[in-house]
Amino acid sequence: MPANMLFDPLPTPTVPITGSDALFPVRRIFCVGRNYAAHAAEMGNEVDREAPFYFTKSAHALVLSGAEITYPPGTSDCHYEMEFVMAIGAAAHQVSPDDAMAAVYGYACGIDLTRRDLQAAAKDKRRPWDLGKDFENAAIMAPITPVAQFGAIADQAITLDMDGARVQDATLRDMIWSVPEIIAHLSRFYHLAPGDLIYTGTPAGVGPVAPGAALEGHIDGLAPVALRIAR
Ligand code: MN
Repeated sequence: MPANMLFDPLPTPTVPITGSDALFPVRRIFCVGRNYAAHAAEMGNEVDREAPFYFTKSAHALVLSGAEITYPPGTSDCHYEMEFVMAIGAAAHQVSPDDAMAAVYGYACGIDLTRRDLQAAAKDKRRPWDLGKDFENAAIMAPITPVAQFGAIADQAITLDMDGARVQDATLRDMIWSVPEIIAHLSRFYHLAPGDLIYTGTPAGVGPVAPGAALEGHIDGLAPVALRIAR
């Protein structure tokens, strides 16, 4: 550490790569809102078909699959959201959907933990969602599978089980905005770069987690994501 550094800089969070001992260093975490029509409907929202919208989480909100976390502070209504996550491996700025896939390194299962009560209060007051979305341990990541191993995005199942019961069940074809469309749109506003993660939204069936809950999410062709909430 340089002598003039006031304290140790935090290490860069990393995500494992399946079938390899390589690590993916995380730069930023973008999240798409309302990308499945049935989830938008269950939240009482119309789907905006003009453009996707986003919120962000700190890279330091990341926790790896298999962790046990304490129930997040400041909420009594913490929800799971199972998501398909893309990992960016090359620069992309103002790219077209046709060129967007060149920026994708791989895909992973992820969970967007949400303090739903704080998000709802922010929505009511037209305030930002940060308290509801960006908090410690709020971005759960399973190991990343390289694109070449996963193949094309089609109708792969995306599911989440809580305590052994299926609570979310959809396919990737249910996404409103496709992976290339999301990258192309987001790249109009950011210089996307290696290390960026994009959570692509959750299907219907979101709900609360309780202390002691065990979550396990699956997407066909990807390593599963697991999380336990401590009692
Ligand atoms: Mn989400």
